[in-house]
Amino acid sequence: MKGALAAIERNDFQTANSIFRNLIDSGLPLPDDMPYYFAETLFQLGQFDNSNNFVSKYLEITGFTGQHYDGALALKEKLKAPLAQIEACNFCDARGYRYRTCFVCEGKKQSEQACSYCKAKGLVGCSRCGATGMIKKINVFNLVEFFECERCSGKGRLTCPECGGGGKEISECKTCNGSGHLSSDQLCNHHASQEQTQVSPKQ
Ligand SMILES: [Zn+2]
Ligand SMILES: [Zn+2]
Ligand SMILES: [Zn+2]
Ligand SMILES: [Zn+2]
Repeated sequence: MKGALAAIERNDFQTANSIFRNLIDSGLPLPDDMPYYFAETLFQLGQFDNSNNFVSKYLEITGFTGQHYDGALALKEKLKAPLAQIEACNFCDARGYRYRTCFVCEGKKQSEQACSYCKAKGLVGCSRCGATGMIKKINVFNLVEFFECERCSGKGRLTCPECGGGGKEISECKTCNGSGHLSSDQLCNHHASQEQTQVSPKQ
């Protein structure tokens, strides 16, 4: 904790960040004011959503009596604008991390896969004749007669009604849940990148 405060003192927020994270990972009891210092550090690093979580946690733990009560309120105030920017921005997720184009559907939101109805065969068994191609009938003399199935012209198979025989189906991309994008670990500047400017007309 002392090391983290010293790092903050010399504006080395990256170092402070890793010390705080090690503290959290260590599972040791954390000092009460740690969430406040961590929130200030995260603010400096542009991790506004996370900063907001920790400053809220600090206020929750210490209430009005916290040593950094005023500082925490001021930080909350400072967070309002960047959090509103994240909210308004279409290029990043709720935490402010930039979206990247889904690598599976390449931003098309849909992907092509094997038709699940015909198991990619493109054909399905005719249900009228039980895939035999023949219809059995009992005539007036109580004799069994066979007729060619009209529905499948005696083939016993029909073109798959789901994929039209192609054996493939287009469905919502499962990797990105049909959104066309995935989160990245890159913080967003809330401006379109070159890549996104290029893909946007397709969307
Ligand atoms: Zn996708
Ligand atoms: Zn048939
Ligand atoms: Zn099919
Ligand atoms: Zn953004």
